[in-house]
Amino acid sequence: MIEEEYKKVWAACLRMIEDTLGPENHMAFETWFRPIVPLQLDGTTLIVQVPSQFFYEYLEEHYIDLLKRVIKLQLGVSGMLKYSVVMDQSISTSPIVTTLPSQSRQSTRNPLTDLPVDINKGGERELPNPFIIPGIQKTRVNSQLSPNYTLDNFVEGDCNRLARSAGYAVAEKPGTTSFNPLLLHSGVGLGKTHLANAIGLKTKELHPDMTVLYVTSEQFMQQYAEAGRTGTTNDFIHFYEIIDVLIIDDIQFWAGKAPKTQEAFFHIFNYLHQHGCQIIITSDKAPGELQGLEPRLLSRLKWGLSADLQAPDVETRKRILLKKAQNEGIELTDDVVEYIAYNINTNVRELEGALISLIAQSTLNRKEINLELTKQMIDKYVQSSAREITIDYIQKVVCDYLDLPVETIQNTSRKREVVQARQLSMYFAKKITKSSLAVIGMQCGNKDHATVLHACKTIDNLRQTDRHMRAMVDELEKKLNA
Ligand code: ADP
Ligand code: MG
Repeated sequence: MIEEEYKKVWAACLRMIEDTLGPENHMAFETWFRPIVPLQLDGTTLIVQVPSQFFYEYLEEHYIDLLKRVIKLQLGVSGMLKYSVVMDQSISTSPIVTTLPSQSRQSTRNPLTDLPVDINKGGERELPNPFIIPGIQKTRVNSQLSPNYTLDNFVEGDCNRLARSAGYAVAEKPGTTSFNPLLLHSGVGLGKTHLANAIGLKTKELHPDMTVLYVTSEQFMQQYAEAGRTGTTNDFIHFYEIIDVLIIDDIQFWAGKAPKTQEAFFHIFNYLHQHGCQIIITSDKAPGELQGLEPRLLSRLKWGLSADLQAPDVETRKRILLKKAQNEGIELTDDVVEYIAYNINTNVRELEGALISLIAQSTLNRKEINLELTKQMIDKYVQSSAREITIDYIQKVVCDYLDLPVETIQNTSRKREVVQARQLSMYFAKKITKSSLAVIGMQCGNKDHATVLHACKTIDNLRQTDRHMRAMVDELEKKLNA
């Protein structure tokens, strides 16, 4: 007997998931994956049944990436996963509702995964808050939001897509998605404050009657201490309880201190969460690494969705620069944008800082922003923060010069001009950057250090024996150092 294909596919998925999660997550595997029942394979769409709406939401929040990866590996890039949710017992006595293709059912798209989701809701769970009488307690609260940090200004890229779309979903339906709390985390300067603020603005735009408040964790702590001194702790707590969307920025600030503040926040958190209000928190660490926070507060933070912001790749950096320049009313040429984007790759704050200095330089000295000015400026800027021309940038300059797409460096082609581009990149990377031979090799088409060494020797030799090569190397050197 041949087992049906869909069962085989799901069995293979399960094995991969179990492997990936490892023995330390065996419980999670048993809880969240074992109960999933494969139903059908429709082309490259696998339809599985999950026991409840909550179950589906939990999977989507915590295991999106894993599921996506596994499905694509099993079913190819067009692979998709559709869920069929067992309906609430109170609505249907039969435990299984749909096993059939989706044409009769609405299929929505999950904003986070672009996997279509087949939901069969058992009913809305909105709970009106009986204690807040609209219009009376909703005194005007200054939201402390910055008008410039909008969602429109927050450039989307692979680095932030999940967080950004979760943010959008939250702004659309504050408190009623399962992303509550929404925890945004990343290293410094990667857009947590901007995005959290943008979600606040979007919420106000879509729900003008909601009370949104942005505070830094430091402010919150000071207010709390102040309330303690003046005997107004109750007012403090009540004030926070009327907020619909509370944004607390940089919660790691409390780590290892402020136990009383954390306790107060814990109670406010519980109150807001119970009353269907949205909480948005930022942190420079993932929840798992937030040592020094009260364990019970930490466990609350894990209730919702935690989404990280990564450092943007070069294409996103370019788009960010263009956006910022546009907001400043300044036009930048492509070579300028490229130079900055390739050479400043730490974080967005520095990227922005470099652009602002450049604009200031040009206005102060009445010089136009061209590549020359940019190089002077950025090199100074980069020097002062102890960085160097990157291997990426070298590859870009070399490939532009040879009229090759920069990706060719990474492929396995042995065509003469590709080999040459790779060797030149290695040669300059060795000469100009402080990277080790191993690192250079890895970034130039995944070669080993011996290949890099060989490349450097080859270029050196050719440079001495071949007039044409010497001219080319000199020219490139000028471009890189100018
Ligand atoms: P964090 O709070 O993570 O330290 P910020 O939110 O303060 O970072 O971001 C630093 C700067 O970078 C801000 O000026 C912000 O506008 C900008 N920035 C970060 N990410 C983006 C993005 N995706 N698009 C546009 N600007 C961004
Ligand atoms: Mg910040």
